[in-house]
Amino acid sequence: MANVKDFSVEEKLIAVLTLQKIDSKIDEIRTLKGELPMEVKDLEDEIEGLQTRVNNIDAEINTINEFVEGKTNAKKEAQALIKKYEKQQDNVKNNREFEAINKEMEMQELEVKLNEKHIKDASFELRDRTASRLKTEEKIKDVEESLAAKRAELEKISVETDKEEKALAEKSDAAKTKVDPRLLTAYERIRTSYRNGLAVVPIMRDSCGGCFNVIPPQRQSEIRQHKKIIVCEHCGRILVDVDMDSKVK
Ligand SMILES: [Zn+2]
Repeated sequence: MANVKDFSVEEKLIAVLTLQKIDSKIDEIRTLKGELPMEVKDLEDEIEGLQTRVNNIDAEINTINEFVEGKTNAKKEAQALIKKYEKQQDNVKNNREFEAINKEMEMQELEVKLNEKHIKDASFELRDRTASRLKTEEKIKDVEESLAAKRAELEKISVETDKEEKALAEKSDAAKTKVDPRLLTAYERIRTSYRNGLAVVPIMRDSCGGCFNVIPPQRQSEIRQHKKIIVCEHCGRILVDVDMDSKVK
């Protein structure tokens, strides 16, 4: 292999552009995978939240049921008392005693009615809670379906891309050996300083393909000549012309 320092500017540019294309492909795969695990996690969290809601509703339903049980017992007790008073009234000795028992009975009748009202109100609440429980369960089913789909997608992508990513990483390493060391240092520095990982960009519509600032015609013509390495004066990215960009795959 020839020493990289013997290469022409054009060859150096092609080498670094080749490296960029390989690295961008790796970035693309990582981005694709990078979002899926997050989406899976979001759905898992959503299910957990919904499950907590179901548990809370269940606790509320329990409380209401216990309340109803208590009120039903109280009603029964009041009814039993009324029966007892009715019998007592049959054996009263005087009017005063009759009236006193009557008062007790009226109080217990009120107690029955009050308990019945509580039970009725509680039954509305129960119906309401049961409906929202059902709704939440349905929502969980929906989210679980989405989660299963996302998991399958991630699994599939991982199986497909793990191999591709490894192959690309090897290609990237090989491409690096062909890049002028100083240019490689600059490339890596620029690449890590931009989130999209672009260090080598083509001129697009008279602008830098990285920061979209306009590149003057004189500079564009210099770039086309491949006589020296030219960087964007705004973002520092290495610039290539569209022809070269489309030739390098
Ligand atoms: Zn730029």
